[in-house]
Amino acid sequence: MNNLATRGVARLVRGMPTSDGAGVKLTRVIGQPQLADLDPFLMLDEFGTDNPGDYIAGFPDHPHRGFETVTYMLDGRMRHRDNHGHEGVLVPGSVQWMSAGRGIVHSEMPEQQEGRMRGLQLWINLPARDKMTAPRYQEFGPEKIPQVELGAARVKVIAGSVDGVAGPIVQPATDPTYLDVELAPAGRFTHTLPAGHAAFAYVYEGSVLIGEGDSATTVNTHELAVLTDGGPVRLEGRSSARVILLAGRPLHEPVAKYGPFVMNTREELMQAFEDFQQGRF
Ligand code: MN
Repeated sequence: MNNLATRGVARLVRGMPTSDGAGVKLTRVIGQPQLADLDPFLMLDEFGTDNPGDYIAGFPDHPHRGFETVTYMLDGRMRHRDNHGHEGVLVPGSVQWMSAGRGIVHSEMPEQQEGRMRGLQLWINLPARDKMTAPRYQEFGPEKIPQVELGAARVKVIAGSVDGVAGPIVQPATDPTYLDVELAPAGRFTHTLPAGHAAFAYVYEGSVLIGEGDSATTVNTHELAVLTDGGPVRLEGRSSARVILLAGRPLHEPVAKYGPFVMNTREELMQAFEDFQQGRF
């Protein structure tokens, strides 16, 4: 194999404050004018607040079809309930990887009246062949997410593998990497991401330096760095920092998207609306 260049920062995108659900305040990072999507990633939201007024109304019943939602809780508790009888509470450090497939209707509601609520929700597209499959969940509590200590870096492996330690998520379609990296000041982490995979780093605490030498770029809290293609990426804490590192195989398929439905054609979108309205989810 050839040596691959270190991945650098192709673009820096700042998360945009917005609200969704029944008025939950959040930071939208992917799925906003500066970065509409990053195939196969469709959306990334960070919700995080100490103020119950910002989250208490939650996300009442709403549908999804044609893609996956990945919820990673950092603080607080969220109850999930769908129309197929699936229900559970996401606690800090847990991950819910939901393949909506042909359709679910669910609610995501805070299971607390006060205190901090914080987490990340990522939407990942499904290939055409998987958009109408049965809904499926991969759910893991914090004890099931392996953690690797590498000097001044601590890495939680949600998907992909680090130092031979594999995360629990299985998704052959996009072969995702999802790492939560905690760095001490000047702590370093270098990781080889699959060449050809779209990749980004999103900093949710502190700031990190990405890349090497003159082309290294500082990425601050609430900023996302779209990474250039290549092999390894090198992160260095400029302070104590927490960053998620994501990669996935692009689908290179047409995207027809409206709200919570993500299909390949306009006709399929109209069918999704009709199926939802007729109660076929
Ligand atoms: Mn949802």
